Amino acid sequence: MSFGVKSLDLILRKAKLRSGEVRDIGIKDGKIVEISGKIKKRSDKEINVDERLTTPAFVNLHVHLDKSLIGDAVGGNVDTCEGGIRRTWEYKKRYTVQEIKKRANQVVDLAVVYGCTRIRAFADVDTIGGLNPVKALLEIKKERANHVDLQVVAFPQEGILKDEGTEDLLYQAMELGADVVGGIPWIEFGDDQKRHVDIVFDIAKRFGADIHMLVDDTDDPTSRTLEYFAYKAIKEKYFGRVSASHAGALAAYDNSHAARVIQMVRDAEMTIVSNPHISLMLNGRRDVGLIRRGITRVKEFLEAGVNVATAQDDVNDPYYPFGKMDQLEVGFLMAHVAQLGTPAELEKVYDMITLNGAKAMRYQDYGLQAGKTADIVIIDADNIKDAFRFQPVRLYVIKNGKIIAASTSKKKIIKI
Ligand SMILES: [Zn+2]
Repeated sequence: MSFGVKSLDLILRKAKLRSGEVRDIGIKDGKIVEISGKIKKRSDKEINVDERLTTPAFVNLHVHLDKSLIGDAVGGNVDTCEGGIRRTWEYKKRYTVQEIKKRANQVVDLAVVYGCTRIRAFADVDTIGGLNPVKALLEIKKERANHVDLQVVAFPQEGILKDEGTEDLLYQAMELGADVVGGIPWIEFGDDQKRHVDIVFDIAKRFGADIHMLVDDTDDPTSRTLEYFAYKAIKEKYFGRVSASHAGALAAYDNSHAARVIQMVRDAEMTIVSNPHISLMLNGRRDVGLIRRGITRVKEFLEAGVNVATAQDDVNDPYYPFGKMDQLEVGFLMAHVAQLGTPAELEKVYDMITLNGAKAMRYQDYGLQAGKTADIVIIDADNIKDAFRFQPVRLYVIKNGKIIAASTSKKKIIKI
């Protein structure tokens, strides 16, 4: 397809698409304007892609930029999710906007190098760190707009009912410009879990915002917050505007109840985000011998037609000691933990780190098609299987039509 543009800003020659087809890609004013076998026009800037894998840049739908890189200061990962929350408190009291930005910017740099240009970042909102995390991430959103599109989630990590005063702070966070209302209902006591979900919907409706909650991040089979979240989304007609991370408890439900909840999630057009690094590290801690993997029923969600994404979640913080913001590494791990290994299944995993995240963030401009924003990653691989297998260098990372990161190709053995 050609838009009849005279001169192009950038042409990628011989780009290998996911389908295996080799195409030229023409870029103008930050957009893809032409994809064809041979673009006749010339540009001052052309890259010979040499049949390397070329896809839309990666999307990370769940990461805590505000807490990243504090792992060493708080003793690293030693226990469960609840333990991680507690061990963050002392550090959080000392948060300043500048200090958070310094750490978060390093993580954005990693994301860019590994070809990720769209990030949904969670910012804690509570009475310990106040609004500093939201302020810091909103500044990064503005300052790094040439590198990443950032959506900031106002996230009540300590609970809304458990941490009195957080509800007001959430409203303030949204007033400041946060994009998405977060929630973590499963950490509340008893009926407060439902009240938590209700409050999140009240705030989201007030601001016309989407919702992303962390649900049932526990092995406890009685945890039911995904079910109530889906119920509420259907009741409020919030179809397609809701995302849920973790949902590990669903794996422990009996099969007939799990099937019912999966159906509700589908009816709500909810996105499920499963983060295998963190689930493997934190969940099943009380198991002995046969230790559960801790992830939700990824395969069953996929079979039901639910939009599923996978994300980094944590980068060297109290929950997880590693994390390099490489969505290929995330997908590689997801393929193992959810046992997705056929060619068709690997295609689905690649969707989880690209298209499905963009769909949840409701970006209309995303994708490798004429008319879409030129957010592209060129990987030193022949195909997506090898991309997962070797997680090779990202030769070029392109954001809004501009090259923002580049690496050199394969290492060579020197003959002596
Ligand atoms: Zn998380």
